[in-house]
Amino acid sequence: MTEKKEYDVLVLGGGISGSESALNLAKQGFKVILVEKDLSLGGKMIHLSKVFPTLDCSACITTPKVSETARHPNIDIYTFSEVRDIEKLNSGDFQVTLVQKPRYVTEDCTGCQLCEDKCPVVVNDQYQWDLVGRKAIYVPFSIANPRIAAIDIENCSLCGACEKVCPANSIDFSQVEMQTPIVVKTVIIAIGFNLFDPTLIPRYGFGKYKNVVTSMQMERQLVPTRPFNNVLRPKDGKMPDNIAYVLCAGSRDETVGNPICSQVCCMYSTKQAQLLMGALPMADVTVYYLHIRAFGKGFCEFYQQAKGMGVEFIKGKIGLITEKENGNLLLRYEDIESGNIKEAEHDLVVL
Ligand SMILES: Cc1cc2nc3c(=O)[nH]c(=O)nc-3n(C[C@H](O)[C@H](O)[C@H](O)COP(=O)(O)OP(=O)(O)OC[C@H]3O[C@@H](n4cnc5c(N)ncnc54)[C@H](O)[C@@H]3O)c2cc1C
Ligand code: SF4
Ligand code: SF4
Repeated sequence: MTEKKEYDVLVLGGGISGSESALNLAKQGFKVILVEKDLSLGGKMIHLSKVFPTLDCSACITTPKVSETARHPNIDIYTFSEVRDIEKLNSGDFQVTLVQKPRYVTEDCTGCQLCEDKCPVVVNDQYQWDLVGRKAIYVPFSIANPRIAAIDIENCSLCGACEKVCPANSIDFSQVEMQTPIVVKTVIIAIGFNLFDPTLIPRYGFGKYKNVVTSMQMERQLVPTRPFNNVLRPKDGKMPDNIAYVLCAGSRDETVGNPICSQVCCMYSTKQAQLLMGALPMADVTVYYLHIRAFGKGFCEFYQQAKGMGVEFIKGKIGLITEKENGNLLLRYEDIESGNIKEAEHDLVVL
């Protein structure tokens, strides 16, 4: 344990909500500690393409906010860190144990990525939602903050190749978990959300059929920067021309223990459908929905705009998705308007 530190506020989570909270408080003169469990700040928003309903570039909103947070003198940032215990003291303050996990790379790292070229180990890249691979030593993603590499020690073969090539001499296998006691007056919890695991609904075929993807996988493909800059089917690299969206996948569904509405999937699907119309002008996009919940300012107009662009909206409940030999997907669904059971073929399905 190192020396105890004191702060006015502990913010848990360095996504857009945590960054905004930390920054607003710091600007008012409060001393803030921001704790993010991931390797970089930015949460989900730093990985999105554009944002509904304005279609502003998501990274262009997130990265200046994150940099301002990282630079502010009243904010101390701990990434790759978590809080282990919180205990309320008689004074009303909170005694907190902060745990910093080892990156095995020191802060001298310049983010040059020479180590990545030499590392022989390839595993799925969690920041690209497993669509591509990354090395066992890796800079999380191009606009990561901090832009410091980390070694995924569970997959590292300890070959030492990164150590030999690193010009900053920043590989450090001797790093261990660090615990720091802190005392704070207030705690803000801004830990965001996780994506629903679609394998919990096996009839959608996610994990079995490669051309059934998640919304974040599509979001990454729609970002106009590397590694994609292109929308392609994962199974064969074909450019899709008949894409289906399945809404409420894992939401409003008691059978998977999640009865509530996500409040975002209607709108981000409508957004992605519009972006696809631009990225793949020849493609048809069909959205299968139960209700369209366009409840915010400008949302209904945004939905009408998508319809005007030619996106087809079908009020229908998907019962089963199966794959054909050519990789296309057959969607069996209840057409709610007519009450009939129907089938439709698409070459890519986004849950
Ligand atoms: C596919 C998709 C598209 C979207 N498109 C749009 C859009 O176009 N427009 C729009 O307005 N919104 C959109 N959203 C919603 C938007 O992503 C969220 O509103 C936003 O990311 C919420 O930010 P947050 O900071 O609350 O949470 P998050 O982005 O989830 O960030 C939470 C942070 O907390 C960290 N954390 C978690 N647990 C802990 C812990 N125990 N200790 C420390 N840190 C922790 C996480 O690592 C993460 O960095 C979309 C969402 C999805 C899934
Ligand atoms: S020591 Fe580990 S991280 Fe470094 S190059 Fe070898 S496998 Fe990759
Ligand atoms: S660890 Fe070394 S080689 Fe790898 S990105 Fe950092 S400075 Fe470059």
